[in-house]
Amino acid sequence: MLFAMLLKMSSWICLVFAAPCLAATPPTARQVIEEIKAHVGVPWSDDTVDTFKAGDPDTPVTGIATTMMATFDVLRRAQAEGKNLVITHEPTFYSHLDKTDVFEQENDPVWAEKLKFIRDHKMVVWRFHDHWHRRRPDGIMEGVLRALEWQKLYTPDGQIVKLPEPMTLEALASQVQTRLGAKVLRVVGDRFMKVTVIALQPGAAGTDRHRRALQRPEVEVLLVGEVPEWETIEYVADAAAQGRHKALLLVGHIPSEQPGMETCAEWLKTFIKDVPLGFVATVEPFWTPASKNAR
Ligand SMILES: [Zn+2]
Repeated sequence: MLFAMLLKMSSWICLVFAAPCLAATPPTARQVIEEIKAHVGVPWSDDTVDTFKAGDPDTPVTGIATTMMATFDVLRRAQAEGKNLVITHEPTFYSHLDKTDVFEQENDPVWAEKLKFIRDHKMVVWRFHDHWHRRRPDGIMEGVLRALEWQKLYTPDGQIVKLPEPMTLEALASQVQTRLGAKVLRVVGDRFMKVTVIALQPGAAGTDRHRRALQRPEVEVLLVGEVPEWETIEYVADAAAQGRHKALLLVGHIPSEQPGMETCAEWLKTFIKDVPLGFVATVEPFWTPASKNAR
């Protein structure tokens, strides 16, 4: 028993330190996550959504996929690449806490098929949200700023970006859409307005944080992932109707944070050496018909 334990431990140590080992057994998902906890650089909180969401944590890991959202499509592509541990930033089962009791009671077919796929292919899904944001620098923001090419323009205090020179809201929206690879980006505000100062709040920071950023006199544009339409969106529409110099870029949750999970894969590679590891992009689900009402 002790020998077996030592053998298991030593093979995992070999993987971590990339030492030459004979017949190395792969780490389990649980062991990989323990390594993440040891390296993330912030104290691990028990009150967190960063937990296993599906699959057996003691499954040997054949490969690791980081992704923005463990959609069915992502799971299929990760599985096809032989990556059975999926590290997802956002939920797997359609709500922040990934509670599945309602789906179970309703015998929901979509949830059931997703769970069956995970089990049939011996996959494990673990969420990496709170602590990846808590890391300094924030792992998501690091990737987003790099994708937007705004690293040198960014001030963490207030999450403000100051452009070197003013540009029209339309030009800015187009640049953001291209750099983040957003298929459907929505804008509120005057398209010809010249803007310089942007408050950057990827993901779903919530309408209170959105509004407080917009209340700052210097902030002209708020960039967010998502928000209910009767909250920040209506607020910015009213501000614009009152003639205020305010605008909103509504990027969508996935493209607004996704580069941060690409960064996560790069970070994991610094201490997980011998397990195949890579980023699997989450495909944004939206599309729009060619519109005659664009302007
Ligand atoms: Zn996030």
